[in-house]
Amino acid sequence: MTDVRPDDQAHNPFDKLALLIDGAWTRGTSGKEEPVINPATGQMLGMLPHASAADIEAAVQAAQRGFLVWSRVPAMERRRVLLEAARLLRERTPWLAQVLTLEEGKTLDESRAELASAIDVFEWYAEETRRLYGRLVPSRQAGVVQAVAQEPIGIAAAFTPWNFPALTPARKIAGAIAAGCSCVIKASEETPATCMALATACMDAGLPPGVLNVVFGVPSEVSQALLEHPLVRKVSFTGSIAVGKHLSMQAAVHGMKRCTMELGGHAPVIVFEDADVDRAADICAAGRFRNAGQVCVAPSRFYVQRSAYGRFVDRFGQAADRLVLGDGLEKTTTMGPLASERRMSVMKSFVEDALAHGARVVSGGSAMPREGFFWRPTVLADVPDEARAMREETFGPIAPIAPFDTMEEVLERANALPFGLAAFVFTRSGHKAAQVSSGLAAGMVGVNHLGISIAEAPFGGVKESGIGSEGGVEGLQAYLVTKFVSSMQT
Ligand code: NAD
Repeated sequence: MTDVRPDDQAHNPFDKLALLIDGAWTRGTSGKEEPVINPATGQMLGMLPHASAADIEAAVQAAQRGFLVWSRVPAMERRRVLLEAARLLRERTPWLAQVLTLEEGKTLDESRAELASAIDVFEWYAEETRRLYGRLVPSRQAGVVQAVAQEPIGIAAAFTPWNFPALTPARKIAGAIAAGCSCVIKASEETPATCMALATACMDAGLPPGVLNVVFGVPSEVSQALLEHPLVRKVSFTGSIAVGKHLSMQAAVHGMKRCTMELGGHAPVIVFEDADVDRAADICAAGRFRNAGQVCVAPSRFYVQRSAYGRFVDRFGQAADRLVLGDGLEKTTTMGPLASERRMSVMKSFVEDALAHGARVVSGGSAMPREGFFWRPTVLADVPDEARAMREETFGPIAPIAPFDTMEEVLERANALPFGLAAFVFTRSGHKAAQVSSGLAAGMVGVNHLGISIAEAPFGGVKESGIGSEGGVEGLQAYLVTKFVSSMQT
């Protein structure tokens, strides 16, 4: 195996894209590779090797050896490794933010913020290792001790998408490591270098070989190999609903593996006329166009009470007009490109469909004619519920807005879709806020702000948006199984 170390900050990490198997970086044995593209330029950054079936088997076998070692390591040592990895990531952030921007496209400020959140996740899980309590259950009989223990589940197979190349892998890697599990992660082939840098920080922090393995390849082939493997006990996936359903079925068929599914949403935003409408529009525009709209919990369909509607639409359009599109590495840029070329045609089809349904363009609505994959921040008004932009996650910089009249009506419209990840409400009335937050079918609700993604709180959806949570105590539970032991003293 070639020793390629992507943490060598003097060199371009895209020259050294590799798999991590049993503690060593390798180009693998498949002979296959694919280009990694800078979405701001369309230019190739480097060639990413694919794992062969033998490489995946080697990764799982390494993870099994890693599990046998790591599951016996005391919680305080697991804590130390996670905290040291966090420290190294903080130290490497200036370099790593550039790597993240190069492969994903988001602005440098957004990359730094994402890395700060990823580090926060490492630190949160590190501290939670101290609190992996079991419990004693009062016995029914003298001389019997009844204990409930929490044990690491085993090897976790993790799959992460391209929109948050640091935060999403961090949630899975840190959760698994904190619990005493080992992990084989297939990060996105479109944004591999950031996940490699996370893994390097873990290794440099003293994580034993085999506890964390990183592979890339054709997603469906890698996931099939990992899900069919009898040694893999846990599946954690972040991505689209269609793929999540497919993996859940495979996980059930091949050994009833436990699943955490973090899938898409289409977050409704309800703005009442008593809200601070200008502030709501500014917050919503910032949230909608963050990371060029490629955020699963972004506010993404907007219902505004009729008397406040015109004001909200105008203000939202002005906020969109102020955004400066460009390469995320440039200081003046406030919105980067879409992460891949295929997302451009998806945006076009959403806009065309909305216009065909009678919507009007308030801002943007088209691609930007320059190199790279730039779609203008788009605000659409008078979008009927039947338009695709109101029914399907656009996962891009498109904000469809429509008026509503009553709370009852808007709750019905907000809950009409099969998803339920995030939802938001803006109002000055505590009564309305309470009624709407309890009436919304969503895993997370933000009232008068968007701050719902933090390390110490559960992050997850209901309905087709997923199963389970990441973050919070729930995130660690996802990598544990309980064991009841009843002992009679003889
Ligand atoms: P996609 O469905 O092709 O891929 C989504 C992610 O799943 C990618 O990272 C991909 O590598 C992975 N993937 C695909 N097939 C897989 C398989 N069989 N096994 C394991 N992993 C697999 O979609 P896309 O074009 O990359 O993104 C479009 C849609 O995906 C968006 O509209 C959005 O709904 C969803 N998405 C959601 C999130 C999220 O955070 N929940 C992130 C990225 C994409």
